[in-house]
Amino acid sequence: MGIYLRPATLDIALDALREKSLTIVAGGTDHYPARVGRPLAEDVLDISAIRGLRGIEERADHWRLGATTTWTDVTDAGLPPLFDGLVLAAREVGGVQIQNAGTLCGNVCNASPAADGVPALLALDARVELASAQGVSIVPLEDFILGNRRTRRTPDQLVTALMVPKPAGRATGHFLKLGSRRYLVISIVMAAATIAVDGANRVTHARVAVGACSPVARRLPELESALVGRSGDASLGDVVDASHLAPLAPIDDVRGSREYRLEAALTLVKRLLDQLGEKP
Ligand SMILES: Cc1cc2nc3c(=O)[nH]c(=O)nc-3n(C[C@H](O)[C@H](O)[C@H](O)COP(=O)(O)OP(=O)(O)OC[C@H]3O[C@@H](n4cnc5c(N)ncnc54)[C@H](O)[C@@H]3O)c2cc1C
Repeated sequence: MGIYLRPATLDIALDALREKSLTIVAGGTDHYPARVGRPLAEDVLDISAIRGLRGIEERADHWRLGATTTWTDVTDAGLPPLFDGLVLAAREVGGVQIQNAGTLCGNVCNASPAADGVPALLALDARVELASAQGVSIVPLEDFILGNRRTRRTPDQLVTALMVPKPAGRATGHFLKLGSRRYLVISIVMAAATIAVDGANRVTHARVAVGACSPVARRLPELESALVGRSGDASLGDVVDASHLAPLAPIDDVRGSREYRLEAALTLVKRLLDQLGEKP
């Protein structure tokens, strides 16, 4: 058994990360299941008791979601429609116990291709705040996740928050997940979108992302451009065609073939946008 640190302040945590190689644990819902049957030999930095790291705050031009904010915190926060996609994703992560313990930042840092939070956060243009004893840096989520289980975080850094900019106009989000059953399931495909509309209900801003169809969830920039200027109504899904899925590179695995995933992604993205356009 390695050492187990559970500091109460960020400064102590960052000093510890500077001194020693430590495995960060937040809710532990990815960390511990991945180690079943193996001795717990690593030195652990448990960040769950660090004051000020948990919670969602509205600032002048962005929202700040602290590193130990759980999925349940997201569903219970009474967030505006911009966050509807993230709230729906939160309700689909495991069951209630997992949502109570698991954190958004843990989901992002674990960098699984099937992480349900990642497409929803990409559709929100989320940025990742990283802190070390040397200072703070902010990286777009798109640049933070490098590949399957790989991120840009260096060993002395802790992710301290996710930041979501406030788009201009009336913004709404949505999320759909396809699994082999309704609940407690690893995604075959999931899709998330955020659109903002002006006073004439024209789309001024669109973000669409698809997960589980490439090593890292990907945005669909051509589709986003095609959506801008359209009427934000239930026909939004008509804009989608197969060429918009070019950034995706699904694999065959036990949950679905490459062809099935691409077809499912096309259907899911159309449905997602139609439902988003139907929202009041
Ligand atoms: C039964 C079950 C069902 C699940 N269902 C789903 C599901 O439907 N969808 C889904 O997406 N996931 C699911 N998960 C996976 C998991 O619950 C989520 O990914 C969760 O959000 C992870 O958060 P955590 O705080 O528990 O992460 P942890 O296990 O604490 O950490 C995960 C990884 O992130 C790193 N990390 C955590 N926080 C930080 C930080 N602040 N800075 C730097 N590194 C950090 C850790 O070092 C570790 O590598 C499930 C897990 C279980 C056990």
